[in-house]
Amino acid sequence: MSFSFDFEPKPRRQSVGVNVGGVMVGGGAPVVVQSMTNTDTADIDATVAQVAALFRAGSEIVRITVDRDESAAAVPKIRERLLRLGMDVPLVGDFHYIGHKLLADHPACAEALAKYRINPGNVGFKDKKDRQFGAIVETAIRHDKPVRIGVNWGSLDQELLTRLMDENQEKGFPLTAQEVMREAICQSALLSAELAEEIGLARDKIILSAKVSNVQDLIAVYAMLSARSDHALHLGLTEAGMGTKGIVASSASLGILLQQGIGDTIRISLTPEPGGDRTREVQVAQELLQVMGFRQFVPVVAACPGCGRTTSTVFQELAQKIQDDIRKNMPVWREKYPGVEALKVAVMGCIVNGPGESKHADIGISLPGTGELPAAPVYIDGKKAMTLRGANIAGEFEALVADYIEQ
Ligand code: SF4
Repeated sequence: MSFSFDFEPKPRRQSVGVNVGGVMVGGGAPVVVQSMTNTDTADIDATVAQVAALFRAGSEIVRITVDRDESAAAVPKIRERLLRLGMDVPLVGDFHYIGHKLLADHPACAEALAKYRINPGNVGFKDKKDRQFGAIVETAIRHDKPVRIGVNWGSLDQELLTRLMDENQEKGFPLTAQEVMREAICQSALLSAELAEEIGLARDKIILSAKVSNVQDLIAVYAMLSARSDHALHLGLTEAGMGTKGIVASSASLGILLQQGIGDTIRISLTPEPGGDRTREVQVAQELLQVMGFRQFVPVVAACPGCGRTTSTVFQELAQKIQDDIRKNMPVWREKYPGVEALKVAVMGCIVNGPGESKHADIGISLPGTGELPAAPVYIDGKKAMTLRGANIAGEFEALVADYIEQ
């Protein structure tokens, strides 16, 4: 029996590039990281603070909810405050139900946003809904803004789904209910894009997304979308969940699609714990792109998992501290030391794999495991440079990493 495995990433799917407030999405541009706030947009202080935190963490585009007059009125003020902080971060307005009205009543909001996100399931397809969809598209054309047509299976256009189910029944059920649902999601996005183009929105102003919460459905829907259109695609698993489940589900589905060359921008939707750090979704998105080799954002800190040879926690603490320090310093280092994100640091627990892994890093340390002599060889550029001894091994290694970066 033969088994073949295509292990190289496929070339990126050709998509029409869309300029979102100065950030290119698609058209061969690197996959863009984006995120979304969970503050009340009408609370200007809280929203500015959270957008700033997301931007500092590396979010290249940030989406905010625009659900009522107060939030629409706040948008230009939020944009202005961010610019005063030196943060020209493209803001995307997330509109549902009354987006057409909010954009019409608040032209300053329409202008301040870099993109509008419309959900065709609730600004949809027939009669009155068509006019609402059309009104948003016309506003986008007037303000020269792109639109993301974002289908979500939780608010899928029910008329479209019912029609496709009826057709499936008439044909004797060639498709399963799951396949009809996938088809409806895909068609909802494509038909909405066609409608937007008929109204006059240019192709380079349209991004599509079709979010579902099941990993296999997400992969299937995006595979269908990518085969049937050349619009730029925003990837995201919706309602991915909390903690490790959300991270694993998002990484598994987005990783497979990215490996197939599908996806121009990603968001990792994680349900934060109460009071939890919203920037975690940005960090996970960056790490996904980085571990897959598509982009580099921060130096890699390689650390072994530890085992019975390391009963002290020194090396885990050192690895964590170095990683945290690097993340904290990255905004400055990125400016000061171009290429610093390609750096690789190794912090290893003992001599079994420590020297080997450390030699593969730019700078690495192999800490003494339990029972070994309290000496920690340090490797720089693949060669043993020195051995640290004594109580302050961790502090001295940190200083060496900082020196290495500065040099
Ligand atoms: Fe254990 Fe040493 Fe391997 Fe780390 S490098 S996992 S401490 S054997």
